[in-house]
Amino acid sequence: MPHHHTWLSKPTRQPTKSPPSTAIVGPSDWRCSRCAKLLGVRGRGKLHICVHGHDYTVSFPVEAVCRGCGCFNRTDIDQAR
Ligand SMILES: [Zn+2]
Repeated sequence: MPHHHTWLSKPTRQPTKSPPSTAIVGPSDWRCSRCAKLLGVRGRGKLHICVHGHDYTVSFPVEAVCRGCGCFNRTDIDQAR
């Protein structure tokens, strides 16, 4: 006698799928080149950084070591568009 597992025949799919984080990445985000961790936000020729609740606004070029993977990142005014 074959067993009909009807509850397994349906493909498992999630009805509510949250959009991937990459979909909300704006052009002004400065992200780690390796792990895409948000390092800062570009704006008005400056780079805005929020670390531990403190806001910093720095001028280009900006160099930073990613807190996530330790990768060295650099961005310049030419990329601040
Ligand atoms: Zn990283």
